[in-house]
Amino acid sequence: MRSYTLIAPAKINLYLEIISDRPDGYHELAMILQSVDLADEIYLQSLDTESICVKCNHPQVPTDQSNLAYRAAALMATKFPQALAEYGGVEITINKHIPVAAGLAGGSTNAAAVLMGIDLLWNLGLTKSELEELGATLGSDVPFCIAGGTVIATGRGEKLSPLPNLDTIYIVLAKYRSLEVSTAWAYKTYRQEFGNSYLRDSENLAARAAAVHSEAIVKAILNQDPGKIAAKLHNDLERVVLPAYPQVLQLRELFASFTGVLGTMMSGSGPTVFALVESEEQAEAVKLQMRAVIPDQDLELFVTRTITQGVQVA
Ligand code: ATP
Repeated sequence: MRSYTLIAPAKINLYLEIISDRPDGYHELAMILQSVDLADEIYLQSLDTESICVKCNHPQVPTDQSNLAYRAAALMATKFPQALAEYGGVEITINKHIPVAAGLAGGSTNAAAVLMGIDLLWNLGLTKSELEELGATLGSDVPFCIAGGTVIATGRGEKLSPLPNLDTIYIVLAKYRSLEVSTAWAYKTYRQEFGNSYLRDSENLAARAAAVHSEAIVKAILNQDPGKIAAKLHNDLERVVLPAYPQVLQLRELFASFTGVLGTMMSGSGPTVFALVESEEQAEAVKLQMRAVIPDQDLELFVTRTITQGVQVA
């Protein structure tokens, strides 16, 4: 085959706990990550030369070497130079639907799709765990985007333990197009403001990582209980992002006040806020209610749902 199209889904964080800082500058995390059906399409086409090029329909996404999809292809080219010589380089076309810089792993899922697609284009036959290992060198969320579904992620987010598939839960996402929150800023500020509480425990890191405080939400997931899952949503980064970004706080408070919303939380380092809702009809109703309160077209709203897989060939 000379071309492949891949579907690259976004993720939300049902749970994000910062356990400790780490010597490498990252943080030791305990997260529960969930794939949703809001997805980008990635079209890969073999080239006759050994070059890599990226095209994207979204003006905010760079198409140079800083694009995570480009970096994924460059990684494959470095690891498998013979395959590059035999099969040629690749043109990557990204059709963006996932909001950019949103806490939804948009870049990571594009990179995951490129790794999986080049594996197919070059007949490499890599296993999922080999692809996840390669993905971890590009970004903490990339292995999850390959694995997909509902997963406990520890370490800096790259160590994955799958949970059973969730029955479909409908979700409304809200994000101000022009609002960006730097992930690095969010973690740095959290560490400055709340680091003392966990730094004391850093010698006890392994024990703390094992005793993740997420038992209640894990139990709710195992019991397929959306109400309890929604009641146990948690994100430590809300402690720094909500006070600094009143618009994010407002979205969260509005979602919480709407009928049919089971629970609401910010995803990752934000600024996307999501709401878990009882049904598809109610998700559409919640979206309409939000639009009625905030008619500003800068606010993007999506109805999506939980899915059980990560990146897939279309
Ligand atoms: P995460 O949830 O993993 O922290 P995010 O959803 O917050 O990710 P991205 O959408 O991945 O953030 O974008 C972060 C930045 O990365 C953007 O500002 C953009 O310039 C850059 N970027 C590089 N490659 C991509 C890509 N393929 N898609 C989107 N953004 C990209």
